[in-house]
Amino acid sequence: MTSSARAVAKMPLMAGRFTPAMPIATPTSRMLSTISRATRSPAARPVAKSAATLKLAQTGRIAFRRAYADEAPKPKPGKLRRTFRWAWRFTYLSVLGVLGYTGYIIYLDRNPAEQLERDPNKKTLVVLGTGWGSVALLKKLDTENYNVVVVSPRNYFLFTPLLPSCTTGTIEHRSIMEPVRAILRHKRGAVQFYEAEASSIDHERKVVKITDNSEIKGAVVENEIPYDMLVVGVGAENATFGIPGVRENSCFLKEIGDAQRIRKKIMDCVETAAFKDQKDDEINRLMHMVVVGGGPTGVEFAGELQDFFEEDIKKLVPEISPRFKVTLIEALPNVLPSFSKQLIDYTENTLREEKIDIKTKTMVKKVTSETVEAEVVKPDGTKERVVIPYGLLVWATGNAVRPIVKDLMSRIPAQKDSRRGLAVNEYLVVQGTRDIWAIGDCAVAGYAPTAQVAAQEGNFLGSLFNNMAKTESHENRIHELSSQMNLQAGGTPPAEAAQEIEALERRLKKIRDIKPFRYTHQGSMAYIGSEKAVADVSWWNGNFASGGSMTYLFWRSAYLSMCFSTRNRVLVVLDWLKSKAFGRDISRE
Ligand SMILES: Cc1cc2nc3c(=O)[nH]c(=O)nc-3n(C[C@H](O)[C@H](O)[C@H](O)COP(=O)(O)OP(=O)(O)OC[C@H]3O[C@@H](n4cnc5c(N)ncnc54)[C@H](O)[C@@H]3O)c2cc1C
Repeated sequence: MTSSARAVAKMPLMAGRFTPAMPIATPTSRMLSTISRATRSPAARPVAKSAATLKLAQTGRIAFRRAYADEAPKPKPGKLRRTFRWAWRFTYLSVLGVLGYTGYIIYLDRNPAEQLERDPNKKTLVVLGTGWGSVALLKKLDTENYNVVVVSPRNYFLFTPLLPSCTTGTIEHRSIMEPVRAILRHKRGAVQFYEAEASSIDHERKVVKITDNSEIKGAVVENEIPYDMLVVGVGAENATFGIPGVRENSCFLKEIGDAQRIRKKIMDCVETAAFKDQKDDEINRLMHMVVVGGGPTGVEFAGELQDFFEEDIKKLVPEISPRFKVTLIEALPNVLPSFSKQLIDYTENTLREEKIDIKTKTMVKKVTSETVEAEVVKPDGTKERVVIPYGLLVWATGNAVRPIVKDLMSRIPAQKDSRRGLAVNEYLVVQGTRDIWAIGDCAVAGYAPTAQVAAQEGNFLGSLFNNMAKTESHENRIHELSSQMNLQAGGTPPAEAAQEIEALERRLKKIRDIKPFRYTHQGSMAYIGSEKAVADVSWWNGNFASGGSMTYLFWRSAYLSMCFSTRNRVLVVLDWLKSKAFGRDISRE
């Protein structure tokens, strides 16, 4: 190599050393520049360049040229790219926020604050039931104002709207249960809970008789609880309308135990139908699932059942799946009678597309262990008796009054004309009594027996009791201050006492001005199968009716937001994901 050639070979390094701000001085950029030069084809390389390079190299300017030529200026990110980047950042921060908030709520749930001890000088408020009405009341109530006692044979709150999903395993039953002791542990004042059934109410002696009807019994199984105030929120039982065989042969859908029984029976029918050399007629009978009641519960159950067969059983037990059939029986001319005409038509069409047989104007007359006997009103008005064989029969027709409510009604003369439950006034006081209130399905206040009504009534009563406690405490204080002013010895000086009395009277005026209970209807929703739902939602002064897959997403998000706790919400979402990814669990417990 000649000395001038050696000088050229060293030149970029020397240039880099004398100009520290230059990118070419870094080993990486040098490497890149070598690569880019190597990748250029010899033909494309200008021959004259070496002379020019040589000249520039002597002035040290070559380094600049190489640096800028080899590293093209970075292009500004496009609009779409920037939007994606911001969307990603927003999503990331939102997920972090939701996780953080959920973690905080879980921490609060697991670490409740200390509770105030019960005070024997305060009034005893007894609440019967742990359903929608009673739990809404307990949520709203300032429990430090009363000695609160809760009595229920069920030591949990049940989120009934998602109960039909438990019958097929779309949701596991524990995901929609919330232990009542966990709810009560978060109240400021301690609350006493007894897992027992209230068997009678003596409104003259002001006592409730309670009985332990659980499997395991101790030495004491019956007792009495005295009360100053009593709230009856015991709900209702299943109506059978006195039709023979219903109670003995059908499954109800009201409690967790009912959903578990249905889930077992569905799989028992399938496995029995798939038994070796099973008779043809018997396969048809066993695979026929009959649902009586075309209200939201019956329709939702029929939809869930059809989904279960289409999505899971068909794949796992294909040999009998063509025989599977769901029949929905309704005595009225159409299903979902409380929905708008448009949604009724949409629901009936969708159910027919799903191959669910709808039998309207059909009145069940008798049920045996294998058949339903019904009377069908034909289009010409004539009646026909039909016999429908079934494998599983689910009865979802409505409510009947519980024995404890019937007993209380029979003791109060003012209740003698009431048939469907305890008649209450606009403040939910049981008519003919002074210290008994009734809420939810066991009360007759002129509204439909729904969770929405029960929850609003419970909420109203919670506020009413809080106000009553405040009123009493203000009145006592006014009385105390007035006595001090009259005696004029010690205590608060008269001017200050007069001011305080005035302030208390102003507050009392506000508190006493309690409006009577008024129900606000927020709408009705129902799942109708095949990932479709219908919703009649109240909108301003009118109604907004919608049906389909988007309504199904709305249905899911609405029910998720209504779940009792964060724990319930997380479990329900996980169940939905689990059943979608792995299918429903068809093992029979
Ligand atoms: C499957 C299903 C789905 C539903 N879906 C919806 C829906 O989507 N939207 C809607 O608005 N409504 C729905 N409902 C109706 C709703 O669940 C009821 O209207 C609501 O539960 C009534 O609330 P409640 O507090 O009166 O009674 P419940 O919630 O039934 O609670 C009654 C409580 O009293 C207890 N109890 C019973 N007997 C006694 C006794 N002797 N002593 C003490 N305690 C007793 C029970 O154990 C229970 O804890 C549905 C109902 C069912 C069954």
